[in-house]
Amino acid sequence: MVTCYIAIGSNLGDRKQYIESAIRRVRTLANTKVRRVSRIIETAPQGGPAQGAYLNAVFEIDTDLTPYQLLQELQRIETALGRVRRIIDGPRTIDLDILTYGDVIMSEPALCIPHPRMLQRQFVLVPLGEIAPQVLAGLLKKRGARKSKKAPGTVSRKRTHGKKSKKKRRP
Ligand code: AMP
Repeated sequence: MVTCYIAIGSNLGDRKQYIESAIRRVRTLANTKVRRVSRIIETAPQGGPAQGAYLNAVFEIDTDLTPYQLLQELQRIETALGRVRRIIDGPRTIDLDILTYGDVIMSEPALCIPHPRMLQRQFVLVPLGEIAPQVLAGLLKKRGARKSKKAPGTVSRKRTHGKKSKKKRRP
């Protein structure tokens, strides 16, 4: 079994009910055990259109599902709980993101693990730090090591003027 951490959030309808219901459904997945669930915290929305505050939590599972099977099951639960993807970063009844899947690192269009923006999100850092401080510390250390690999004085490439060249359209 592989230990994974999943972030959960809701900012529409009965938010607490949606979160509890989603975790109940994860408990029923084949070959999957929910081990720990953080406290639920309320957070201001980050990005996207003006929308209501979120309830967020993180939970730990052990699973025999593959990363894509897990993603598929989580998306099935989102759909069953009324998640509609109309606006990017828009309000949602439920959002389930895979933060980590064991030590797996993957970067594919449909699945990036560890979740690429997780370390910039207080609504992930706080609950993950509560249930798995050692996992969070490990991720932060790796990020620190990656940053310090840059040679001193390295300047990040930044466009200072001019427009990005337009991509040629395919005929
Ligand atoms: P969201 O709207 O935040 O639920 O994003 C869902 C989209 O992100 C889906 O199309 C997924 O295929 C993709 N995705 C990429 N990496 C992950 C991840 N680690 N966990 C969940 N969804 C992911």
